[in-house]
Amino acid sequence: MPLLTRNVPAPVAIEVRAGAVAGLTPLLADGRISSGGRVAVAVGPGQGADIAAQVAHAVPSATVMTINSGSLDGALELISSLRTSWYDAVVGIGGGKTLDAAKYAASMVGLPFVAVATNLSNDGLASPVASLESHGRKASFGVHIPIAVFVDIDYVRKAPLRHTRSGIGDVVSNLSAVADWQLAGAVNDEPVDGLAVAMARSAAEALVSRTDPIDDDAFLSTLAESLILSGLAMTVAGTSRPCSGGCHEISHALDASHGSPGLHGEQVGMGALFASWLRDDMALVAPIDACLQRYGLPRVPADLGVSTDDFCAAVLEAPDTRPDRFTILEHLAMDKQEVRERVDAFIAAFGR
Ligand SMILES: [Zn+2]
Repeated sequence: MPLLTRNVPAPVAIEVRAGAVAGLTPLLADGRISSGGRVAVAVGPGQGADIAAQVAHAVPSATVMTINSGSLDGALELISSLRTSWYDAVVGIGGGKTLDAAKYAASMVGLPFVAVATNLSNDGLASPVASLESHGRKASFGVHIPIAVFVDIDYVRKAPLRHTRSGIGDVVSNLSAVADWQLAGAVNDEPVDGLAVAMARSAAEALVSRTDPIDDDAFLSTLAESLILSGLAMTVAGTSRPCSGGCHEISHALDASHGSPGLHGEQVGMGALFASWLRDDMALVAPIDACLQRYGLPRVPADLGVSTDDFCAAVLEAPDTRPDRFTILEHLAMDKQEVRERVDAFIAAFGR
């Protein structure tokens, strides 16, 4: 019997628990990732310095490098530093922006990358995408996925609450992204990858109906695992499609032309509610709305300090941010007046 399967690239180690950082140094020292301990440790602002000190103590041959900004410039500076010597691997320690800059740099110099997350603000932990800011604009770059991912719940719990909320919005937006992908499959015959859909949707469903406190260990572990699964869903699909639909197009437009009013996950969470409402998909609208309310995320533009005019402009600009992507926004192809009517009705339905 022929066994036709596909191989899915995945990190060799994933640890999500309180005290996970303690497992990092044995992994680096046991030779699986770095035979000689010649690792570059890239640290961002915040809690990363504390972990970097632990790594430097346990792996004396490690070189600690500071990422001054999680931007393309910060990543290019890191690439220059990495090229001054020989390293076995890059360990990135920090939040979403730091990890994206370190992941991009490691990919560019062809070194394995270990992600150590100190907050859960977005699904970049294990994704094949790095989002970097350059000259005031954010751009997405394809990169290699991490060889190992560590999330230490003790550090995550100390991160600003807003970062955790952002992670919730990014995970929950998978539900809308998947629905947009299936719409593209039905309308445009676009191929839809069932495995990527299963992973992205399961990740969101594990979280969307939870009611436990946002700083609970069990909740934070599920959030971390859902973000990691989202990244792997993108790897399986070979595109960000399973985790990025009209919700993300609106967020990209808010980033490009309206000064990034919120964190990524705050913007895409609201975008997911709006896109699901546009699709008239009440089976998604109710749980997404309830989840955003329960954990204190923005639901309407005013919650992010965005005027109705600016949000309408972002909705109109959104399809241009990902010209190759078909979502409910491209499907409806609304003109300026239609957008205004829909946005007004949305705000009337969900505004406080
Ligand atoms: Zn996202």
